[in-house]
Amino acid sequence: MSPIALADRVERMRESPSVAAAQRVRELRAAGREILDLTIGEPDFDTPDHVKSAAVAAMDAGLTKYTAVNGIPVLREAILSRMAERTGLTFTDSEITIGGGAKQLIFLALMATVDAGDEVIVPAPYWVSYPDMVVVHGGTPVVVDCGESDRFLLTPEKLEAAITPATKWVILNSPANPTGAVYSAAELAALAEVLARHPHVNVLCDEIYDEIVFDEAPCPALLSVAPELRDRLYVVNGVSKSYAMTGWRLGYGIGHPRLAAAINKLQSQSSSCPSSISQAAAAVALSGDQEFVAESVASYRARRGIVFDLLSEVDGLTPALPQGTFYMFVGCAGLLGKRTPAGDILKTDQDVVLYLLDHAAVATIAGSAYGAPSYLRISFATSEEVLRAAAAGIAKAVAALA
Ligand code: PLP
Repeated sequence: MSPIALADRVERMRESPSVAAAQRVRELRAAGREILDLTIGEPDFDTPDHVKSAAVAAMDAGLTKYTAVNGIPVLREAILSRMAERTGLTFTDSEITIGGGAKQLIFLALMATVDAGDEVIVPAPYWVSYPDMVVVHGGTPVVVDCGESDRFLLTPEKLEAAITPATKWVILNSPANPTGAVYSAAELAALAEVLARHPHVNVLCDEIYDEIVFDEAPCPALLSVAPELRDRLYVVNGVSKSYAMTGWRLGYGIGHPRLAAAINKLQSQSSSCPSSISQAAAAVALSGDQEFVAESVASYRARRGIVFDLLSEVDGLTPALPQGTFYMFVGCAGLLGKRTPAGDILKTDQDVVLYLLDHAAVATIAGSAYGAPSYLRISFATSEEVLRAAAAGIAKAVAALA
């Protein structure tokens, strides 16, 4: 019997490399190996108790049925006031979309807008999912290299040069996965000036890490810096990262009512609505006590300092200090060309990842998965103990190279 033939659009897509990395760690652990896992893309903290209690209360109150496609009223209110607080602008229900995570909303926004031949500007290093989400809808990702000298961020000149008549979107992710880089208000204003000259270009602002910042809080929002672009922006956020709720699958987005209606139509025909229980929990996360956010950010800040100091001492590694998120992008160009004790030459960042996995039992992700070869992404959403042990293991493995 021949297997079901898959649609071309699925064949064009790659599996998410971060999901694949997590799977590899699970396999190694299942085979009995102890792995220090620095691939983790989610907080290591548990969801705060008051949020869990809200979910239990929602179930007890019978909130166990389908909801409106743009969410239960308390969640909508919480999103509207959160967005008003963040941007100084007011929004209405007709601009709200909710989904099973920010990821699903980005997917649906692209599905709603991208036709074959449309281009989407994706600054690299990028979050692994953006290019594939563009490709699956028949669009063309236009990857723009943003090097370390630009703090891995898109410059106005590079934006201007990448725009064509076919450009539909530019994706801005701040704070960024995988680099932790954050656009300043001035940098956003400079990009907005370019965008003002190109009214056909829309901006997808992925702000999922907006609360996890170490210097300037809150992290600047394009919407407040350039409110005149409002009709062309889709701002995506969620509760996964700030409130340690990755498994609850709840994200939200704010956009022009026409775009919001299109996304809601797709949502209504695919999943009807996200979980009613997660919606109730998210409403409390967004509008309730915010101490958890401050405490977890303080913890990430301390861990960032530890990892940065330890890896800075390793010859051949060049960590870039992140301004937000719980990721660090570590240059490994200095290790390429070196010989392992087994006699193999490290030719690529992927070779470095495999070497560290084998010799130090430390799992990292290759920068090439993020469109930036010669780097490693490490996550510091794990205990100080694991971070210290991993850094020591990396230092030892690197010292063994010739
Ligand atoms: N956007 C970025 C940049 C991310 O790193 C992630 C998760 O890793 C997401 C979106 C997805 O968030 P959610 O859990 O809300 O789908």
